[in-house]
Amino acid sequence: MARAVSTPPDAAHPARRPARFATRGHDAAAAHLATLLADAPPHALLIVGPRGAGAGTLARDAVATLMCGEPVDGGPCGACRACRLIASGSHTDLVVISPTGASDEIGIDPIRALAAGLALFSVEGGRRIALIERADKMNEAAQNALLKTLEEPPSRTHVILAAAEDSRLMPTIRSRCAVIRLGLPDAKQASELLGERLGVDAPTAVRLLRMSSGRPGPLIEAEATGDAARAHAQIRRQILDFAATQPHARLGQLGALVADARAILVAGADDGEAADGADGDDSSDDAPDIDVEPKKKSPAKRSAKPTPAERRAAATALLRLWRGVARDLALVSTGAVDQIAFPEDRAEIEAVAHRLPPATWGEALRAIDKTLSALRRNGNPELLLDAAALSWPTL
Ligand SMILES: [Zn+2]
Repeated sequence: MARAVSTPPDAAHPARRPARFATRGHDAAAAHLATLLADAPPHALLIVGPRGAGAGTLARDAVATLMCGEPVDGGPCGACRACRLIASGSHTDLVVISPTGASDEIGIDPIRALAAGLALFSVEGGRRIALIERADKMNEAAQNALLKTLEEPPSRTHVILAAAEDSRLMPTIRSRCAVIRLGLPDAKQASELLGERLGVDAPTAVRLLRMSSGRPGPLIEAEATGDAARAHAQIRRQILDFAATQPHARLGQLGALVADARAILVAGADDGEAADGADGDDSSDDAPDIDVEPKKKSPAKRSAKPTPAERRAAATALLRLWRGVARDLALVSTGAVDQIAFPEDRAEIEAVAHRLPPATWGEALRAIDKTLSALRRNGNPELLLDAAALSWPTL
């Protein structure tokens, strides 16, 4: 049984997020973590949350708190020697492991090195900590090696894991960890964070966050700009305009639309399965319109002529966006206006939706889903886009 610690803190521990935590939009979980670390820091802590939603940041807050010599308010003080060493990335008693290489996984070697490192005496005289980022990328051998360390943890050592999908971790690892689960961050706080980090105004931050399905991480990593939000709004507007355009006239606009979609495919996501290879289902309702794989490829390598993989990725990006428009049209036409993905586009959607029978948009949505499936099964991107444009409803 996992020692699940997902309940909110009790009255003796007021729910307040430590002031110096970098985590935003997860106040209850942050306060809960602070309480846990102050009371009885676990040897192994697993923080699980959707990719880009803040699990990695909360894991770093946990590291900083455990290392801090004089914690304040349940979090790091930010001023002591340990805090300064952590901030500069030079604390000798902290080992950080993340996936590397073309396979984007964590193999057994760094985990063996971790075990050897934790067995040594602390250089700074305090705790020794291993942070494993994107721990669900550990291969089987790595997980087996980690399990040995978790079974017999040296004293004053901690292993902190951040993961998007704990189902990929062995049950024996999960059962030895205190677990904190995160959902998506509070949208208001996440938008404010984007405003600060990306230097965009509030409406732009809100739109970018929606494009990323509520996950600020990919946007910050890709240093997204207001241009991405404007291009996104423009593509959606053009797709809405398709209904008033003769089918064959739409074909001439597809090239520019694909190029725009490629421009907001922020970085690195240049194979069509970029979103979440796990289930291969990128047509689900919460598939983001903007996405980025954790850095593994050099963007400098991008050539003028798109590779087949880039063409496929751009077509997929455009079709996902297109699907979002179809979904919003279907929702508005059935009266579910409050469920549309981009409420700021409501007037434009309503102007088109009510001009055709509601069933039209449901069928259009299913057609786009079929096109996305065909693209996943290696269909020709350009031919599929042409077919989608021709079969889109006409007013
Ligand atoms: Zn400190």
